[in-house]
Amino acid sequence: SSLPRAAAVATAGAFFAGGVASCMRIEEEVKLDYKDVLLRPKRSTLRSRSEVSLDRTFHFRHSKRSWTGTPMIVANMDTVGTFTMATEMAKHHCIVAIHKHYTVDEWKQFAAEQPQAVPYVAVSAGTSANDMSKLDAILSTCPGVTFICLDVANGYSEFFVSAVKTVREKWPQHTIIAGNVVTNEMTEELIMHGADIVKVGIGPGSVCTTRKQTGVGYPQLSAVIECADAAHGLGGYVCADGGITCPGDAAKAFGGGSDFIMMGGIWAGCDEAAGAIVERNGQKFKQFYGMSSNTAMKKHAGGVAEYRSSEGKTVEVPYKGPAAAIVLDLLGGLRSACTYIGAATLEEVPRRTTFIRVTQQLNQVFG
Ligand code: 5GP
Repeated sequence: SSLPRAAAVATAGAFFAGGVASCMRIEEEVKLDYKDVLLRPKRSTLRSRSEVSLDRTFHFRHSKRSWTGTPMIVANMDTVGTFTMATEMAKHHCIVAIHKHYTVDEWKQFAAEQPQAVPYVAVSAGTSANDMSKLDAILSTCPGVTFICLDVANGYSEFFVSAVKTVREKWPQHTIIAGNVVTNEMTEELIMHGADIVKVGIGPGSVCTTRKQTGVGYPQLSAVIECADAAHGLGGYVCADGGITCPGDAAKAFGGGSDFIMMGGIWAGCDEAAGAIVERNGQKFKQFYGMSSNTAMKKHAGGVAEYRSSEGKTVEVPYKGPAAAIVLDLLGGLRSACTYIGAATLEEVPRRTTFIRVTQQLNQVFG
């Protein structure tokens, strides 16, 4: 229909109860996930994938730093955001958001033994006083670390915004990644209070049960598109966090305007991920769990507090061998996507992107 856009946000249930206006709204505009689209191929002058560069240089709004690398970040989950992973990912110029459960001494040792990996790691922290003082201790002990990942499940609280502001004031020259949010106004809010990169995603993760437990979320590709637009208007960046299951999803995230991508599950079966290999019926697996799963809460907080429920799963994923093979598969897929759409660099990808809405992604005849 040709309804004006404003009318698309329908007031589905405005009614008065005891004189109090209640206004439940439904946004009718279609919101998309990676599975809902494909990238339209376009004519190009590129002759080979080897002509595509996946390195990009970023200039951060607040820290005033520049950083060059491949903008893939391994998630700060204690299974994959490990120092071993960081040592490997640095070879590919990718970042690891190190999980927050290493001690200051372990950080010191890592920085001394793997100095080449230091520009490719981020220190993670939540908003607790304990996290804040540990963040200060790590940054003071390891001056080469320039990325801070401030991470809470719900980036919408005022308390979180003020934590971002405090860390920004304390560490003016560090690049702050903050999240998670899924809407434009909160992306702007975080950037205005000191974030250089806003992490986007509520509920899309492979071991996340937030949508099931709370009914809250936002289709990830639309969240990325809308937040990227808001961030870029303010000279900030976004990082699409969660729900990337294959190189094609990564290409779509960049196509939607994401500057960085964060992935957890994709690395879970690697040698560099923590967790023992389990063998069952001749097949090898590794354990993987969400950071607010029962498993993680038992490990780090002595159990699930009574007032909350677990919002993460524990799973076993097939063993995949070295992370390098997955990196090469991802980068190969991304280079090929760039060739199909005619983008010589990652930065050009959004400009060369037209998404086509689809009802089918893959031919499943052979499973
Ligand atoms: P994946 O790449 O595995 O699809 O998503 C990784 C992301 O899932 C993480 O970066 C983080 O944002 C999110 N995540 C990790 N653990 C949990 C959890 O226990 N609950 C929820 N809701 N999200 C999680």
